Amino acid sequence: MRTSHVSKFYKKTLQERLAILKEFAELNDEEISQLEKYGALDFEMADRMIENVVGTFQLPLGLATNFKINRKEFLIPFALEEPSVVAAASNAAKLSEGFEAKASEPIMIGQIQIVGSQNPEKTAEAIKEKEKELTEKANSVDSVLVKFGGGAKKVEASVMETSRGKMIKVHLLVDVRDAMGANAVNTMCERISPELEKITGGEVRLRIITNLAVYRTVKATSVWKKETLGENAIEKILDAYEFAANDVYRACTHNKGIMNGIDAVVVATGNDFRAVEAGAHAFASITGKYLPLTKYYKNDSGDLVGEIELPLAIGLVGGATRTHPLAKINIKLLGVKTANELSEIIASVGLAQNFAALRALATEGIQKGHMKLHAKNIAIQAGAKENQIDSVADQMSKEGNISVTRAKEIIEGSK
Ligand code: NAD
Repeated sequence: MRTSHVSKFYKKTLQERLAILKEFAELNDEEISQLEKYGALDFEMADRMIENVVGTFQLPLGLATNFKINRKEFLIPFALEEPSVVAAASNAAKLSEGFEAKASEPIMIGQIQIVGSQNPEKTAEAIKEKEKELTEKANSVDSVLVKFGGGAKKVEASVMETSRGKMIKVHLLVDVRDAMGANAVNTMCERISPELEKITGGEVRLRIITNLAVYRTVKATSVWKKETLGENAIEKILDAYEFAANDVYRACTHNKGIMNGIDAVVVATGNDFRAVEAGAHAFASITGKYLPLTKYYKNDSGDLVGEIELPLAIGLVGGATRTHPLAKINIKLLGVKTANELSEIIASVGLAQNFAALRALATEGIQKGHMKLHAKNIAIQAGAKENQIDSVADQMSKEGNISVTRAKEIIEGSK
C-alpha cells in the first residue's frame, strides 16, 4: 500500500531514498536519472542544507545588464524561471540615468510574547527600565556579531488587548550587520526570556524575528529622461501608477512585478526570498491600505522619477549565502562587501523591474515582449525536440496562434 509514512527517511542513503520515491510515484529509470543530475550544488552539500534530499532543483541563471547603481557598474545575477524578466530589467536600466540607493542601518526586530502577567501595563514599563541588562544578556550569546559592531541595541514593550486577554509584546532591536539575522535574533530572544519571565511574572511564549523589518529599509531612486521615453509615455506611466495607488487588485500585481526582479537576485545570492516577500507585502500595507512599493512623479524638467522603498532582510553571511557554491560566485560577481550594499542593488532592481512593467503595460502591452520565449516554452511543452523548438516557435508566432495544440500539429506535420 502506498504510504507517506517513511520511518527515518533522513537516515537513509540517497539510493534508498530514490528507491522509495521510485516505488511511491511509479517513476521510470529515465525519471530517476533526471533526479540524479547535479549541477554546482552536489548531493552532500544539498543534504546538509535541508532535510530528506533526493536531488537538486535548478533554475536558469541570467545576467541583467546596464545597471549603474551609486555610480558603480553592475552585472546582476537573476535566478528565476520566468521569461522576459531579465530582458525587461536590463532594458529599464539601459533607459535610466542610473540608480541612487541607500540602505538604513541593518536593524531587525525580535518579538517576544508574554502572557499571564498580573499587571501588564506596569510590567511593560519595568521591562523598558531593564533595557541595559536585557541587551547585555542578549549580546552575551553573539560575541562575533558584537565584534562587527552589531548586537542588541534597544528593547520596546507594549500591551496588546486580545480576545484571550492582555498580552505583553516585547521588541528586541538588533543590529545584525551583514547577516539576514533570523538565527541571531531568535537566539537572543530565547536567551533573554527567563529574565523577562522574572520581571513580568508571566510566561514567555513565542520568541521569533519579525519579517516586517521596518527599521531595515532601502530606498532607491532613478530618473528616466523625457527625451528618452517621450512625454506621452511618461503620462501613460503616471496613469498606470495611479491605477496601482488606488486599487488593491492592481497594487498586488504591481508589487508582484517588483518582486520578479527582487526575488531573482535574492535567490541567486542564496538569500531567503520568503522572508523578503513577507516583509515587502506587510510593508506595502503598513498604513492599513495595501499600496504600491514604488512611487512615480515628474521632476521640474518633466523627466520621470521613480522611487522604491521596502524592507530587505538579506545577508552575506549565514543561511545559504556562504554554502551554495553559485551564491558565492554571484556575490563575488556583484563585488559587494556589506549586506547593505547588496540590498541597495536589490532595491534598484525592483525599481527597474517595475518601471519596465509599467512602461510595457501602459504602451504596447506586455504580451508582445513575452511571446518569443513563451512560444518556445509552449513548443517544449508540446514535445518539440531541441532542433525543432525555434522553428515551431517561429511558425506559431507568425501565425499568431501560440498554443500547445498548434505546436503539436506543427511537430506532427514535420515528421
Ligand atoms: P546565521 O546565524 O547563520 O549567521 C549569522 C551569524 O554570523 C551572526 O550571528 C554572527 O555570529 C556571525 N557573523 C559573522 N560575520 C558577521 C557579519 N559581518 N555580520 C553579521 N554577523 C556575522 O544566519 P542568520 O542571518 O542569523 O539567519 C539566517 C537564516 O535564518 C536564513 O537561512 C533564514 O532562512 C533563516 N530563518 C528565517 C526565519 C524568518 O525569516 N522568519 C526564521 C528562522 C530562520
